[in-house]
Amino acid sequence: MIAVYPGSFDPITNGHLDIIRRSAALCDRLIVGLLVNPQKKSMFTAPERLRHLELATKGMGNVEVKFSSGLLADFARENGAAAIIRGLRGNAIPDYEFQTALGIREVSGVETLFMFSRPEYIYMSSTMVKEVIFGGGSIENMVPPIIIPEICRKMKVD
Ligand code: ADP
Repeated sequence: MIAVYPGSFDPITNGHLDIIRRSAALCDRLIVGLLVNPQKKSMFTAPERLRHLELATKGMGNVEVKFSSGLLADFARENGAAAIIRGLRGNAIPDYEFQTALGIREVSGVETLFMFSRPEYIYMSSTMVKEVIFGGGSIENMVPPIIIPEICRKMKVD
């Protein structure tokens, strides 16, 4: 089975990486989709986020990273995906996720599969990483170590 794991990954966190690892173990190919919404403000540019994703998934044989500025349903269909993976951080599916999953299945036939976060990553989000960066704290245990030099270069701190 081919699956797509979409997100804005601004930046990728250890929570994302855990979902990537665990879902890649369940499918033949996992395509991590950097889906960019031009209306959403981001800290990292799309090429920066793509590089972070490539560095973090390097060596994972059945994982590839792709960029799209289009619709998730089209992205999934164009890549021959049977399923979309979404990570869940709580014990309820947010309305937005529920509506998107039903809408995508309606227009494209692609199913959405939800995977629970590991307990240690439940509170981890890209937003929290950005707050810590701006607050001058350490993001050492929040993002894949390989992207830390990239983030420091951008922030011009070490
Ligand atoms: P989006 O902007 O589409 O919510 P994100 O980049 O924030 O995308 O996240 C991509 C996916 O990863 C989403 O399915 C989100 O729920 C999931 N996710 C984010 N953080 C975690 C985490 N700590 N544990 C599990 N899943 C997560």
